[in-house]
Amino acid sequence: MRASLLRQTRRISHIRTAGEIGALLLEASLIKQQQPLLNQKLRRNRQLCSLRLVDGVPQVVYSKDINFATEPSLYGLYASRHAAIESLHQLADQHRLCYGALQLEKLKPGRACFRATIKLCAGVCRGDESCDAHASRLLASLEALRVACWPYPGAIGLTERYEDHRQVHVIRNWCYLGSADDLAQARALDVVAAGFDADGYKILCRPVLSGSAHITLL
Ligand SMILES: [Zn+2]
Repeated sequence: MRASLLRQTRRISHIRTAGEIGALLLEASLIKQQQPLLNQKLRRNRQLCSLRLVDGVPQVVYSKDINFATEPSLYGLYASRHAAIESLHQLADQHRLCYGALQLEKLKPGRACFRATIKLCAGVCRGDESCDAHASRLLASLEALRVACWPYPGAIGLTERYEDHRQVHVIRNWCYLGSADDLAQARALDVVAAGFDADGYKILCRPVLSGSAHITLL
């Protein structure tokens, strides 16, 4: 693949950024704009899903229906409903949770699930553990997947510097709105609607939440 990519290359251009975050944000946004054939991974996905507990049962929810940037208690980001359900199966397998209790399969009334008989389910379906114990184990296992809410009231400028090159990246709701040379120009970029963006979330989650990035409220 790499050799054929090279053979097809006619021209290479580059854009200078002031840091790695800016480079990653720019890459993701160019891939969304230009939809290159060979970048399958970073694409805008209208089917973006997550998991939310409804009456203690994980349900698949869609970013087209709710704002993932502000909705508390979402777990995991998935490209499809199928991927979300698959992740729930993995979680259940890792933590011996019950497919019946998670509504991944329907149990006959009064019957334990098959996985309980082969010890893959800890047995909430036959009284080996309480519903409360199962619920709190489910919650604990989901915690690692929790989607962090956008922690600011509005947009921020994230400043990166390399030698004499300074860039202020404008971000709102985990969505990258563009880069500017200074804060005044940056404020002018905060004018469009900014829905949740999965690429932005993945790139920015650590630098924004860890406090390692230079952030200014716009
Ligand atoms: Zn079970």
